[in-house]
Amino acid sequence: MHVPVAIVGAGPSGSLLAWILRQRGIDSIVLESRSREYVESRIRAGVMEQNAVDLMVKSGIGDRLMKERYYHNGVGIGYKNEHHFINFDELIGIGVTVYGQSEVTKDLLGGLANEGHNVLYEAPVTAVEDHHTNKPKVKYTHEGVEKELTADFVIGCDGFHGASRKSIPAADIITHEKVYPFGWLGILCKSPPMLDVALFSHHPNGFALVSMRSDTISRLYLQCAPDEDASKWSDEQIWDELDVRVGTDDFKVNRCEIFEKDVAPLRSFFSEPMRYGNMFLAGDASHIVPPTGAKGLNSAFADISVLSAGLIRHFKNDDSSVLEKYAEVALRRNLLTQRFSWTNTAMYHIFPGSSSFDRRMQESQIETLISDELTQTVYAKAHTGLPFEYWPEL
Ligand SMILES: Cc1cc2nc3c(=O)[nH]c(=O)nc-3n(C[C@H](O)[C@H](O)[C@H](O)COP(=O)(O)OP(=O)(O)OC[C@H]3O[C@@H](n4cnc5c(N)ncnc54)[C@H](O)[C@@H]3O)c2cc1C
Repeated sequence: MHVPVAIVGAGPSGSLLAWILRQRGIDSIVLESRSREYVESRIRAGVMEQNAVDLMVKSGIGDRLMKERYYHNGVGIGYKNEHHFINFDELIGIGVTVYGQSEVTKDLLGGLANEGHNVLYEAPVTAVEDHHTNKPKVKYTHEGVEKELTADFVIGCDGFHGASRKSIPAADIITHEKVYPFGWLGILCKSPPMLDVALFSHHPNGFALVSMRSDTISRLYLQCAPDEDASKWSDEQIWDELDVRVGTDDFKVNRCEIFEKDVAPLRSFFSEPMRYGNMFLAGDASHIVPPTGAKGLNSAFADISVLSAGLIRHFKNDDSSVLEKYAEVALRRNLLTQRFSWTNTAMYHIFPGSSSFDRRMQESQIETLISDELTQTVYAKAHTGLPFEYWPEL
């Protein structure tokens, strides 16, 4: 089988790319190692930048998103057991959208299924080969049978652990990584939003985050050890520690039913180049950020905005100029996003073994953020998202 575009992975980046290409009549196949149910129920990102929202709306898959999303005009900052509000709307005229990643993938995979698009679930890709030819090869397994196909372009959207990036010989790829000495203990619980906007809190015991997913479900996090055993935390201990870190004279967390607990280690990572021959990497396959800046899904969508624009121009206008620029444009934006996620993580978290000097510097940074309008404006711009340089013509 030969297809114009073979997409590895049906997470947010792979499913969005397949959807956009389909809207322009460009054929693709998506190979996904897991089942559709598994991908749709993966609980991860919750915050979308306006550009990411616009991309879904403009490509005709944003109706439910616009009906069900929460629009937040800013964020809360917890500091010394007081809550401060940074109003993005007033500062720069734009806010952020809260809409779960599981809803994004349900919309995209549902849309592809309704249109009969070729998405092969439970079809793990085992290798990508012949990158530098005009027929790169994808090897995969489906229903117990080893198969292969060729494509004009292979797009690696298969996340951090996927096969695409690993198919690049070690001598031809550079990786950059920072592993943080802490993780996030996350809970999902049965509560309406506990606050009007998400609250990022710095506390001597560690970072905490109060956020929301829907009218009935809230998502809260506590900084913990990277190898913390979530099951060792009783519900009572979690609520007590959240109240220590985010409680004020007027606010206590809503001690409701917790139905999921998990621990996510925090890591910054990126690889270059993002193109190898006729294989392109997008999203977590090429870069991951700690969730403090809520940038992972948004960066994945930013990659897809450039890549889909490039592929559409290549196939429809015989113009490869945007595809040629993809690796450079996507990496440049990714570096800015990496820097925001890294500085944000460093500002809010307590680093084991940090000195009193380090901590006073962190406090000074937060005090400047909650009091200085110029600092808030820079923060608002980074938080709400950098511009997308290229948009697909839809
Ligand atoms: C706790 C947490 C909170 C987060 N919060 C936010 C947030 O608020 N905002 C934000 O923007 N981001 C957030 N993120 C990051 C966000 O979830 C990711 O950046 C996003 O999922 C990236 O999408 P992707 O499609 O590139 O990769 P993935 O979502 O990882 O999808 C890759 C897909 O490829 C499949 N796959 C893997 N290997 C293979 C193979 N060999 N063959 C075929 N298929 C394969 C996988 O099953 C998966 O479906 C968070 C992440 C975590 C862990």
